[in-house]
This record gives sequence, structure tokens and C-alpha cells, in this order.
Amino acid sequence: MKKRVLITGAAGFLGSHLCDRFIKEGYHVIGMDNLITGDLKNIEHLFPHEGFEFHHHDVSKYVHVSGGLDYILHFASPASPIDYLKIPIQTLKVGSLGTHNLLGLAMAKKARLLIASTSEVYGDPLVHPQTEEYYGNVNTIGPRGVYDEAKRFQESMTMAYHRYHGLETRIVRIFNTYGPRMRLNDGRVIPAFMGQALRGEDITIFGDGSQTRSFCYVDDQVEGIYRLLLSDYSDPVNIGNPHEISIKDFAQEIIDLTGTDQKVVYQSLPQDDPMQRQPDISRAREVLGWEPKVGRKEGMKLTYDYFKQLSPEELKKSEH
Ligand code: NAD
Ligand code: UDP
Repeated sequence: MKKRVLITGAAGFLGSHLCDRFIKEGYHVIGMDNLITGDLKNIEHLFPHEGFEFHHHDVSKYVHVSGGLDYILHFASPASPIDYLKIPIQTLKVGSLGTHNLLGLAMAKKARLLIASTSEVYGDPLVHPQTEEYYGNVNTIGPRGVYDEAKRFQESMTMAYHRYHGLETRIVRIFNTYGPRMRLNDGRVIPAFMGQALRGEDITIFGDGSQTRSFCYVDDQVEGIYRLLLSDYSDPVNIGNPHEISIKDFAQEIIDLTGTDQKVVYQSLPQDDPMQRQPDISRAREVLGWEPKVGRKEGMKLTYDYFKQLSPEELKKSEH
């Protein structure tokens, strides 16, 4: 009998890659998504596969799945600042009500639940690099609070079910991850810069570009999540690539990669934009024997190759 896994957010960037991985590992995969920021194109190649089924459903409403489940991965949530600023209430609901529904489902099915948390639980961090022990610095009432606090609540609720009900749970704190199937117009910095280069538009740096991020390639992220799910570790684990870079230097790397002759323009920094971010991955190394393998140069090339083959219509859609 194949093991059965439910993946929410299956039509999104990370969810679709996770579906691919679990199909490859021989699982029966049930993908669930309401397509609010995702696209069926990301998983249509799996439709003919007998080990895959898709349910169009909003997980903030009661979730029903027939048959048994061994694992649930809760990845449904708007994930880019543009998305969660546009749909703040849905973002709060999927992190809170959606997580509650999936915890209930996991109890009913005696399944193990892994939730997708985020480096945003650390907010604009005052500790650098960020270890899992750091409690964070989040502005609850700022525009990003809808995402950060939903994820913090999600973690608290998950730990409560773990402690009170003895439910098997896993918490991954995902740091900026990129790769093929990101939405070109989702406003995150990698699709933004690559889209601008492909459309011949100026490269937009927010603020003075001194803020830092550390970018992890999707295959490394999926490997870390897979190992965490199968581990016996229930405290949160950071998964990300510790190679930190300023946004200004990153813009130059994209200019070099794409060969664009457009200029860099500076725009205002969004409110509460974290000034620095770098995962401390000691715990992932120790507990999972995991570390990233794909360097930024290789990963960015693979990602750019993906964006380059999009149709002119897809390319035209810009948020800026
Ligand atoms: P994405 O927007 O590509 O995917 C999210 C998916 O969830 C979409 O397909 C969307 O339609 C679906 N969804 C949203 N609300 C839903 C709901 N109520 N019911 C059902 N489906 C719903 O984003 P992503 O980058 O793939 O992120 C996936 C998860 O990983 C999110 O939970 C996000 O918070 C987390 N995460 C991602 C990153 C990253 O760098 N990509 C970093 C930290 C955390
Ligand atoms: N950013 C930028 N130009 C853009 C889009 C983003 O300078 O066109 C900056 C943004 O302000 C942030 C960094 O790039 O400092 C990463 O932004 P992203 O939205 O990718 O992720 P997050 O802020 O959630 O880490």
C-alpha cells in the first residue's frame, strides 16, 4: 500500500515541487489548493499520474479527505509581500483557521502534520544570524503583521496540539527560497528583477539596497523539508541557505547574469522590511544531516532559464 500524503498549497511554487518529490518517492499525493495565488499549470503534468489527485478547496473552511492519511504538509498561504498585503484577511485565516482545520484532520486520521513556517517569525531581527532560539521582533499591527503573526500563531497552535494531544508535528522555518515556478509578478525580489530584465525595464531597488537576504534554491529546500518530515524532531528547524547578500549586490549579480543594459532605480523601502536575514542552520545540520548544495550562481541560472521560456503574455504581466 502506498503511503498517502495531503499537500495544501499544491498549485503554488513550493507545494508543486513537493508534489513532484512525493510522487517520485512513490507516495499517493492529494494536492489541495484554492488557486488564490497558485496556478494549475504548476501541477498539470501530474494530472495523468494515477498516484496524484487534486482537490480545489479553501483550507480555511472545513477540510474533508476520504480514506487514510499518513502525512499532511500545510503549505497553503499567500507568501509574497504583495500578495499578503492584497489579501490580508485570507492570509490571517489560512494561517490560523486553515491550520486549525488541518490539525483536526491530522488528529482524525492519526497523521503527522508538517507546517510551513517562515523566517518572518523573526520579523526585523535583532539577532544575527537567526537561530531557532530567537523569539523575533515583529510589529503586530504593521502591514506585514498579517503574515508574520498568522505564522507565529500557526506555530503556537501546532505546538499546543503536539503537547496536549500528543499529535506528531513538524515545523519548518523557511528562509527566502527561489526557483522555477515562482510567479513572475508576485513582487518577490528574484522574479521582480528577472522580469524587469526580460521586459527591458529598470531594476527597482527598494530603500538603499543595504538590506540583506540569503537565498535558497528550491531543490535544497525540498530536501530539507522531506528529511524533517521523516525525522523524529518536533521543535522548529530553519531551512535556508546561509550565503547572505545585500539587495544592491544582488541586483548587480542579476544584471551580470541577464546582460540587461537597464539602469537601477531606487524606490522607497516598504514598511517593516527586515534589514538583515541569514539562517543559522546548525540545527538542520545536526538533526537532519542537511545543508544546501546549490550555489546562487547555479540556482539563479536555472531560475532565469525558466523565466526566459515563458510566453510574451505571461511576461507582460507586471506589478510595478
Ligand atoms: P505560493 O503563493 O506560490 O503558494 C501558495 C499556495 O497556497 C498557492 O497555490 C495558493 O493558491 C494556495 N493557497 C493560499 N491560500 C489558500 C487557501 N485558503 N486554501 C487553499 N490554498 C490556498 O507561495 P510559496 O512560495 O510556494 O509558499 C508556500 C508556503 O511556504 C507558504 O505557506 C509560505 O508562507 C511558505 N514560505 C515560503 C517561502 C519562500 O521563500 N517561498 C518562505 C517562507 C515561507
Ligand atoms: N526588493 C527590492 N526590489 C523589488 C522587490 C523587492 O529591492 O523589486 C527588496 C525588498 O524590499 C526586500 C528584499 O528585496 O528587502 C526581498 O524581498 P522579497 O519580497 O523577495 O522577500 P522578503 O522581504 O519577504 O524577504
